[in-house]
Amino acid sequence: MRGKAAPYSQKNHYLCAYMETLLGKTLDELKAVAVENGLPAFVGKQMADWLYHRQVRTINEMTNLSKAAREKLSANYIIGCNDPSDAQRSVDGTIKYLYPTRAGNYIETVYIPDGDHATLCVSSQVGCKMGCKFCMTGRQGFEGTLSAADILNQVYSLPERDKLTNIVFMGQGEPFDNLDNVLRVTELLTAPYAWAWSPKRITVSSVGLRKGLTRFLKESSCHLAISLHNPFPKERAEMMPAERSFPLTEFVDILRREDWSHQRRLTFEYIMFGGLNDSKAHADELVRLLGGLECRINLIHFHTIPDTPFREADDNTMTWMRDYLTQHGITTTIRASRGQDIYAACGLLSTAKKNQEKI
Ligand code: SF4
Repeated sequence: MRGKAAPYSQKNHYLCAYMETLLGKTLDELKAVAVENGLPAFVGKQMADWLYHRQVRTINEMTNLSKAAREKLSANYIIGCNDPSDAQRSVDGTIKYLYPTRAGNYIETVYIPDGDHATLCVSSQVGCKMGCKFCMTGRQGFEGTLSAADILNQVYSLPERDKLTNIVFMGQGEPFDNLDNVLRVTELLTAPYAWAWSPKRITVSSVGLRKGLTRFLKESSCHLAISLHNPFPKERAEMMPAERSFPLTEFVDILRREDWSHQRRLTFEYIMFGGLNDSKAHADELVRLLGGLECRINLIHFHTIPDTPFREADDNTMTWMRDYLTQHGITTTIRASRGQDIYAACGLLSTAKKNQEKI
């Protein structure tokens, strides 16, 4: 069912929950599946084509496999795709989808069309351990990690899949806390045998986790976005507990040792909170911290969440901050606010769904 969210069958979901998914497997793994099932290894390549080029919904649709091969595979495997169970549409074209996961949870994915571009913001975990004070997902707590199939399904089963130009890992969860699966997904998005996207179309965002950062810099060519939100360590730690285990001064040192002059882009995300991180002292400290580093700063409007002391910075202050930082040598932009009428703050829709199920 394309074009709108399909009704989601819990019964069907649980029937298939014990079966292994083909979605999320690399070419070598699909070849191994073929061989383990008594089929020639080249069947693995055929499966990769059906999965990643034609995005089939059932093994039975892989019509160049023999009937016997399809039956054998169907006895042990499913594709692993699930249509969104709910969707909220903004007047500006942004759509927030609610996807069921294989473990019976819900995650959010946001489709953001913008002229001839369309970006998908995907989730990497159910909830999050990072506990950022301004984030609804952080408040939700951590409920589990997502498999590669669950992450990839947000693209695979997206009604607007063929319009996508960019993917950002900025939804629920901390991508570096599920890095095995995030790297597997970025491999499948960029591998010639799968989606063959340029890594320049993909951005992975993180609050900055020590092990994850080092590994990501070594193993991935995708763009990196760091959630900074405050240049003063003490203030940042009050908003973002992750600062205590990996201080921003340390990760900026590591980032300074990387070559950012080609291909890969480094962005610092900075949500602007009124009266909290929007002063000249904050701007000067950002210049001191990031000066000379090949990077850009993206200033973000705060989408308020229930029962929070945080408030949005006003437009004039955001414009002033952008101009001040740019004049002091740091390319700075203000991210356009999208989907404000559909609860754009990440975590609100899945939290509402969870509360609904408790009733
Ligand atoms: S802002 Fe990101 S890292 Fe922080 S709690 Fe929310 S989802 Fe997790």
